Amino acid sequence: MSFTLSVSPLEETSFSVNVADNVQKIREGIRQAALRVGRDPSTIRLLAATKTVVSSRLIEAYAAGVRIFGENRLQEAQEKIPAVGPRQGLTWHFIGQMQRRKLKDIVGNFAVLHSIESVEQARNINVIAEKMGIQQDILLEVNVAGEGTKGGFASKDIPEALVHIDQLPHVAVRGLMTLPPFSENPQNARPYFAELRQLRDSLSQESLKQGGLKELSMGMSNDYHVAIEEGATMVRIGTGIFGKRG
Ligand SMILES: *Cc1c(COP(=O)(O)O)cnc(C)c1O
Repeated sequence: MSFTLSVSPLEETSFSVNVADNVQKIREGIRQAALRVGRDPSTIRLLAATKTVVSSRLIEAYAAGVRIFGENRLQEAQEKIPAVGPRQGLTWHFIGQMQRRKLKDIVGNFAVLHSIESVEQARNINVIAEKMGIQQDILLEVNVAGEGTKGGFASKDIPEALVHIDQLPHVAVRGLMTLPPFSENPQNARPYFAELRQLRDSLSQESLKQGGLKELSMGMSNDYHVAIEEGATMVRIGTGIFGKRG
């Protein structure tokens, strides 16, 4: 029997990252962005994007006050959720694209699904949620820049989609989510964030069940401050907390 310890590349590269310090810095960034535009910082929720990050790092983030973890990949989530275990106030969100055959393992296991991209997908979720006897909270992903490579609704299709999805008793639309085109300059994302906010505001008048469309899930490590200035209620931060992905 060998007692050699093997260290995975992921653990090695994340060794120098101080998760608690990073969480602190991001919180301060959130606070300053909110104050710049007269918003109450406590209305903005921090979601830690956990793809490729090992469970021990997630536990450090929890200890530093993070209460929402967002996973993109079901298989990773299925390992990490039990490894992190149930903890006071901790919720998991699903922030990746969802293949149809995986939906049965996603619905009911995540508090919010961020990336609903079609009415059909919402209907499929509704069927599974009905069998489970639950109501699944979802966000609709909006492809604000109309990028051919990305999923999500066109902005103009959202009002009609909502009419259909609002009839599904086992899903509740809590808001909108977007992932603008990548740019080194975060200011380039501003018009897209503004568009998502305008879309949300134009819809929040409509009679949506249970409180309706409040959430704007937008902003990542390089542009979350701009997203907050434009109204984000949830920012999804990966590298800003856990360092560069291996
Ligand atoms: C990875 C990911 C993030 C976080 O990205 P960072 O640039 O690492 O902060 C946010 N949202 C989604 C959907 C992601 O896949």
